[in-house]
Amino acid sequence: MALDIDDILPDRESARPFYQKYDPKEVLGKGLSSVVRKCVEKATGKEYACKIMEFNDDSDEERISTLREIQILKLVGGHPNIIDIIASFETPNYVFIVMEYCPYGELFDYLTKVVRLSEKRTRQIMSSILVGVNHLHSRHVVHRDLKPENILMDSTMNVKITDLGFAVQISENESLFDLFGTPGYMAPELLRCSQFENMPGYGLPIDLWACGVILYTLLSGLPPFWHRKQHLMFRAIMEGQYTMTGSDWDDVSETAKDLIRHLLVINPAERYTADQALQHPFFNDDRTRRRDFMAKRTLKAHIILVWSIHRLRTLHYRPQPIRGKELLENPYRFKSYRKMIDSTAFLLYGHWIKKDEHRNQNRATLFQTEEKSDLVRHEQQQQQLLNQ
Ligand code: ADP
Repeated sequence: MALDIDDILPDRESARPFYQKYDPKEVLGKGLSSVVRKCVEKATGKEYACKIMEFNDDSDEERISTLREIQILKLVGGHPNIIDIIASFETPNYVFIVMEYCPYGELFDYLTKVVRLSEKRTRQIMSSILVGVNHLHSRHVVHRDLKPENILMDSTMNVKITDLGFAVQISENESLFDLFGTPGYMAPELLRCSQFENMPGYGLPIDLWACGVILYTLLSGLPPFWHRKQHLMFRAIMEGQYTMTGSDWDDVSETAKDLIRHLLVINPAERYTADQALQHPFFNDDRTRRRDFMAKRTLKAHIILVWSIHRLRTLHYRPQPIRGKELLENPYRFKSYRKMIDSTAFLLYGHWIKKDEHRNQNRATLFQTEEKSDLVRHEQQQQQLLNQ
């Protein structure tokens, strides 16, 4: 017999404040010790995602790290590229974190579907990730687990950095030494800490290394460092051994490759910061194009504006009433007469008069010398109007 969703929802009694406010729905995903469900706010009908974490008596450390994650989410929240925390509820055995809902899921799934992205799409996604990382770093927060699985996409396909479970806030010159992260994305200095004594530790730059790995993967559909024997993959990372050759890289621009080379730098002091990466031509070329496009649009708008003002100012003079005398002196000035003159000239001569062959002639002058019946009729009509 299928279980009703209400039977599998945890902690209905102690988490009453959560259940009073939200209606839990289907499971969106599962983490190591958590379930993420869609939930609907009863008062507004708005959809959210709720991460529900369970703890038993001997998982104090996990609870502490979850509470730290909430604290960091609150510290860095309110940014367009960081997942927003809406509320959190704590009970003796569970923690509920209500977050904004990202219906398009993980960047990882998107990448799996499309295999690799165009430079244009990569530029949009990567600049959002770097803007998010820049924000984290401005608060001295190291994410420590940046990867396409931890980047979600909201209803407008806008990128949101999520899963700050390994994130930590550090002070100005503080170094970290613990081994955290996902192997393929780990920076050389972090791996060195775990393998050698007396290492200087690591800090914010490890996130930029991970950004380099993500950028490489988005453009080629392949990770830069991979070996089925993990210790060989770690060696390649620590030695910075990766290539950007072969058919997968043929149509990738030198500018994109240059940015990767500035991110996958072994020495963290020489690696680009998020801010420096955002200044790189890979992003600025596009901005220049956009700026040019905007400038062209503004110029066009200005031309239309000036032309409209001129039209409004001269409107008074423009639709000049046709007076008989004027008409007789130069009928060719008026479009309707011009048309008539041209077609009559054709009838008269049986062919158009070419300007080159009759330099001193034009179709208008033909009719200024000879009065034609139509013009006489018009003159008579005009005269009648003037006399009225
Ligand atoms: P863990 O930290 O244990 O890995 P996650 O936070 O990554 O758990 O969540 C597990 C899965 O739930 C994610 O892979 C994702 O598919 C889904 N998920 C998490 N947060 C959201 C969200 N805000 N909106 C939509 N889906 C989400």
